[in-house]
Amino acid sequence: MKNCRMFGAVAPILVLSLACGDTGPEQGPPSDDEISEIIENLVAAGFPEDDIQLYDGLVYVGRDAHVTLEASREMLETDGELEQYRTRNLVSRNLDTICIDGRRFSGTLSTALNWSINNYNALNLTFSMRRISNNTSGCDALITAFTTSGSGGSAGFPSGGRPYFRFFIGTGTAQFGTNTTEHVITHELGHAVGLRHSDYFNRSISCGSGGNEGDGGVGAILIPGTPSGATVGGSLMNSCFRSSESGEFTSSDRTALRTLY
Ligand SMILES: [Zn+2]
Repeated sequence: MKNCRMFGAVAPILVLSLACGDTGPEQGPPSDDEISEIIENLVAAGFPEDDIQLYDGLVYVGRDAHVTLEASREMLETDGELEQYRTRNLVSRNLDTICIDGRRFSGTLSTALNWSINNYNALNLTFSMRRISNNTSGCDALITAFTTSGSGGSAGFPSGGRPYFRFFIGTGTAQFGTNTTEHVITHELGHAVGLRHSDYFNRSISCGSGGNEGDGGVGAILIPGTPSGATVGGSLMNSCFRSSESGEFTSSDRTALRTLY
């Protein structure tokens, strides 16, 4: 079992050197559409939304770093090192219904579990997920959801063509809201069906510190067709989560799952 405890409020790791000495062509202030794109690019590049400010018609991050539209686009360009990875063992493609026993979850955790299950079912994979409490009829595999202390979660990887049988979510995760809790649960379910961390080779990409998880005894096999994108927020399967996550799969997460299942 691979422990994947994660902590929220990870400091942004991107260092800006955009503000000083920007001698690009003199530009007028960006239009409303351009401002929207700059902010979207910054969020996609991993900046917390509350770190992005609009002042006098210009967009700033970290209070004093002005970001032009061009600079925000460059932040999304990646070095091609990060792709997505799976374990050697996967869930059998002949397995139709994965049931999730969510009876121990209430409140935010319960709502987030439903949203997480919907994330998978929206992809029309070879399996579907169904939340149950105790009636396992029609279930081809069962994953039981447990609570634990703290924030974050842990799960394991498939064996024998079946998903890992349980995962744990810290009840403290709920303090970050339903979307971030949805992110953590969807992440742990991702492990249960065979996804490794997208930054397994360098956890500092999402965690700010840490190294290579290595083979982990389970393999780290590149999933064909997954795009590059070594960014904070580039994959729901990054090692660490931020305090504010959307809870949704990124496009490369969707590609990874659709390729496998
Ligand atoms: Zn993990």
